[in-house]
Amino acid sequence: MRILLALGVLLTVTLQVSLPASGSTQAETTVQAAQLPWMNAAVDKLERELVAKYGESQRARAHRGLQQVSSFWRAEDGDAAAFEEFAKANFAGNQATLDSLFNRFEYNLEQLNGHMAEIGREFRTPSDLQGGPILGFDEIFAAYDPSAHVNDDFFQNKLAFIVLLNFPLTTLEQRLTEGEKWSRREWAEARLAQRFSKRIPADVNLAVAQASAETGRYIAEYNIWMHHLVDANGTRLFAPKLRLLSHWNLRDEIKADYSDAQNGLAKQRMIQQVMERIVTQTIPAVVVNNPNYDWNPFTNDVKPAAVKDSDDAGRSAPSGAALNAPEPNTRYAKLLLAFQASRKVDPYSPTAPTHIARSFDEGREIPEERMKAMLEQLLSSPLAPRVAKLIEKRIGRPLEPFDIWYNGFRQRGAYTEAQLDEIVAKKYPTPEAYKNDIPTLLVHLGFTKERAEYLANNIVVDPARGSGHALGASMRSAKTHLRTRVEKGGMNYKGFNIAVHEMGHNVEQTFSLNNIDHSLLQGVPNTAFTEALAFVFQGRDLELLGLAKPDAQSEALKTLNDFWGTYEIAGVALVDMAVWHWMYDHPNATPAELRDATVQISQDVWNKYYAPLFGKRDVVLLGIYSHMIDSFLYLPDYPIGHMIAFQIEEQMEKAGNIGAEFERMATVGSVIPDLWMKKATGAPVGPDALLKATEKALSDVGAK
Ligand SMILES: [Zn+2]
Repeated sequence: MRILLALGVLLTVTLQVSLPASGSTQAETTVQAAQLPWMNAAVDKLERELVAKYGESQRARAHRGLQQVSSFWRAEDGDAAAFEEFAKANFAGNQATLDSLFNRFEYNLEQLNGHMAEIGREFRTPSDLQGGPILGFDEIFAAYDPSAHVNDDFFQNKLAFIVLLNFPLTTLEQRLTEGEKWSRREWAEARLAQRFSKRIPADVNLAVAQASAETGRYIAEYNIWMHHLVDANGTRLFAPKLRLLSHWNLRDEIKADYSDAQNGLAKQRMIQQVMERIVTQTIPAVVVNNPNYDWNPFTNDVKPAAVKDSDDAGRSAPSGAALNAPEPNTRYAKLLLAFQASRKVDPYSPTAPTHIARSFDEGREIPEERMKAMLEQLLSSPLAPRVAKLIEKRIGRPLEPFDIWYNGFRQRGAYTEAQLDEIVAKKYPTPEAYKNDIPTLLVHLGFTKERAEYLANNIVVDPARGSGHALGASMRSAKTHLRTRVEKGGMNYKGFNIAVHEMGHNVEQTFSLNNIDHSLLQGVPNTAFTEALAFVFQGRDLELLGLAKPDAQSEALKTLNDFWGTYEIAGVALVDMAVWHWMYDHPNATPAELRDATVQISQDVWNKYYAPLFGKRDVVLLGIYSHMIDSFLYLPDYPIGHMIAFQIEEQMEKAGNIGAEFERMATVGSVIPDLWMKKATGAPVGPDALLKATEKALSDVGAK
């Protein structure tokens, strides 16, 4: 399913990710020491003056606010006199002024974010919705981000400093330990301050953007021409013209090959070999994205292509070098580039002074240690060997390393895709037909008639160019959009399944913006939460068609599929995390040294958790994910997403009434994940719900 980063939900999250929050630890001067020679004296003097004017009760606030402002103030913002004038004019010394300040900022920021989101949606209309052809300039409009410079502007016109003077910056540690006792207003104040908790110079932002673009380009062009893979007999196992992008397409080919009884296994073994050579960089440079050479990935022999299956001109090997000269550690040179660029942000991020800290403390708001513990709990679960045994039984052979991508826990439903297509096409010949049915669908899901009407009135249905997506609003006066695909002959089942998922996003987006107490708390903690809520809808799509819901057996297989997917990606996430630590420990490493370290880390994680099940040691497959190179420590989001989905589904089943429960959860807002989950389900984020469901699934399919 396309994961749509709905603006309404994610503005807060996006800001936290791109301009991650820092915090002075409770009024201590651990933030960047003021570089300006006059600053310390000015701060001391102002604190005395503000206390004299507003009373002793304001001392702590004045002290904190002045420290916060001074840590971001640069020479270009003004001299000592300007600093003093600013602080005296903008310190809210009594509750009434502070309330006005808070309310005005909350309202205005909602307007700003909301209108930016509307502009973005309008500018993307030609590329997102069905209509005429997309012209070149449409793409430029679509790529334009009107909010890109808001943060800089707000520091320049000093609105950011006004926030920093009056509201507290917080650390994740504080949000974790004290957040539970905070009022909603205190949470909203914390989120308000977080928006301005970093002031990264333009050249540093540019370096990060360039590294991201360059690593992205490297990954986007890393194709393997599959017909040119040959085995020892010169046999070509893959069809002509087949060109697979690493790692996504290669992995998906492994998954698809389970249904190829004749050559599936040989193909899977060959792809594993290709992947391992990419990780170890023993892959011949000349076979990357080039159909001009045949390659045996086992012996590493390279020959000029004996067949031509493409119009791609390809390229010739440089003369003088061996045909199978390895790729010169480019993969790791790119990763180092990502690391070096990210490191440039460190000095501007005093309380999260590494990319690792920003990724966990500020992006996810789950401490790295906890994340690691959750992944390890999952990986060492006694359920893993039981699921592994079950897979061996189903495939009729011992596991091989590529079976971390086993996808055979699927069962045919009671209806064929064609039958479902027919039912759906009849019901929804046009997007309007779907739109008109939304209130009925929502009542089916357990919403009251009144709630269903209210929600339906806030959802605009548009005809999508792609498979469908949801686009939330960021201000209460705007509506959420459901983009759905309806073919000429009517909607098909796949389109319906997606529309139901996206409708889940729309409902979450409506509640978490329009029915929440503070617009500064709009949304959910991160994408995993909005996805989990959308899956609650999607999982009930057959019932919405008036058909029987999937039986216990299919539910069990689906759970086992999710468990195995989480088990796989948990190891990949641990590798990603360990590699970033290694880079911080070895900031001057060469690409070759980083390659050796990554290979070692991949093997270590494999040997600890996977080798006992797979009967083979020192496998490097966990290092193949492309996200590792171009997504800067993004991989831990995947396993955590699965865990969250199971927690929310478990709670929905416990509550029985999806309508009321959904609204209750979706109005908790963008507090930290653990607090959200405790309010929603009674427990912090963790793997227990997934493990419990897996245990039940194993017993439902009769596994030992
Ligand atoms: Zn989604």
